[in-house]
Amino acid sequence: MIDPSDFYRLDLELTEDERLLRDTLRAFVQREFMPGVAAHFEAGTFPVDIALRLGELGLLGMKYEGYGCAGASNVDYGIACQELEWGDSGLRSFVSVQTSLVIHPIHTWGSEEQKRRYIPSLARGELIGCYGLTEPDHGSDPGGMATRAVRDGDGFVLNGAKMWITNGTIADLAVVWARLDDDIAGFIVEKGTPGFTAPEMKRKLSLRASVTSELVFDEVRLPADSRLPGASGLGAPLGCLNEARYGIAWGAMGAAAACYECALDYVRSREQFGKPLAAFQMTQEKLVRMLSEITRGRLMNLRLGRMKDAGIARHVHVSLAKYANVSAALEIARTARTLLGANGITLEYPPIRHAANLESVLTYEGTHEIHTLIVGREITGEDAFH
Ligand SMILES: Cc1cc2nc3c(=O)[nH]c(=O)nc-3n(C[C@H](O)[C@H](O)[C@H](O)COP(=O)(O)OP(=O)(O)OC[C@H]3O[C@@H](n4cnc5c(N)ncnc54)[C@H](O)[C@@H]3O)c2cc1C
Repeated sequence: MIDPSDFYRLDLELTEDERLLRDTLRAFVQREFMPGVAAHFEAGTFPVDIALRLGELGLLGMKYEGYGCAGASNVDYGIACQELEWGDSGLRSFVSVQTSLVIHPIHTWGSEEQKRRYIPSLARGELIGCYGLTEPDHGSDPGGMATRAVRDGDGFVLNGAKMWITNGTIADLAVVWARLDDDIAGFIVEKGTPGFTAPEMKRKLSLRASVTSELVFDEVRLPADSRLPGASGLGAPLGCLNEARYGIAWGAMGAAAACYECALDYVRSREQFGKPLAAFQMTQEKLVRMLSEITRGRLMNLRLGRMKDAGIARHVHVSLAKYANVSAALEIARTARTLLGANGITLEYPPIRHAANLESVLTYEGTHEIHTLIVGREITGEDAFH
């Protein structure tokens, strides 16, 4: 595939299999997702049937070994996120949640029985998962969470509420983080458990082709084997977020590329003052700025992915990529919007949809400010969080 956003021929740094993955997914997204995306965005719905197709393609839990997962590399996962978010942040979010926030904790901290019971069906897209960490009063500071589990015989009773949970209403199971004694523990809560409800949050103006929900736990009785036995402390939920943020850094550059490609196409064909918009200096300056940021972001992602595959990437490296790439993508989407003039504000073209989505992406999985503080602490040795 000729990729107009690949100015430095980064494809030459990819293996043949990686290039094939990229091309296969771009074609899949164009063929099976793009025709309906504007309607889903307008209606505020996620095309839930696509879960099975994502499973067939081996994208759900792709970087984990065994239990029906594809055992792919981190670079493969990054490429997948990039191509899915070329379509829409909602599509990439679905795969991020299922992979990094649901399969990851079960694979990492679950019992053998939990792994066998849930992961193969999650990987096939037959089961949908969600991840409950954020609460109404505790977002950037999840350590303050109020959701609590207490021991009850062999099992637990869970009380509390989570908010802004991707996939919540459509999920068959939720990975939920709660206080337990003096610890923070992870639980698998199945849909239909008495006392557990997941009402959808409406009236969002961002990430509309994605379901966002509250999770409410009112005296929810959980069996002993609902607890993830290996997960203890805040490091476990934060570890999941680190995996998801890595995919987001790649995904943001997919959204940016979609906006750049759309704008480039548009300014070449539309004429004003007797010549194409592409022939004006200010248009070219905008395009060059966009391309420069995409080139930088992609170089960063590929280097980060190779570091992760080599086992030398730390969470601060992931934070810097999320920080840099999401804000750059948001700026690119807004700039692309201006290049399309009035057409830029409609769902006929992708930039306004991506720009609206990227407002959520800037906030979730650690806000832009929180990643600034994480990297700031690393380079100065000073903790500016508190
Ligand atoms: C569409 C969408 C989907 C989401 N999906 C999920 C999900 O699946 N699961 C889940 O658990 N959560 C999810 N979230 C929640 C998301 O992770 C939180 O919104 C995020 O962590 C920020 O929390 P908050 O919204 O409470 O903002 P707050 O923490 O209240 O922050 C508000 C502002 O204050 C800033 N701020 C906070 N602390 C500091 C500080 N120390 N210094 C400087 N500035 C600071 C923040 O950067 C931000 O700008 C989702 C959010 C959205 C929008």
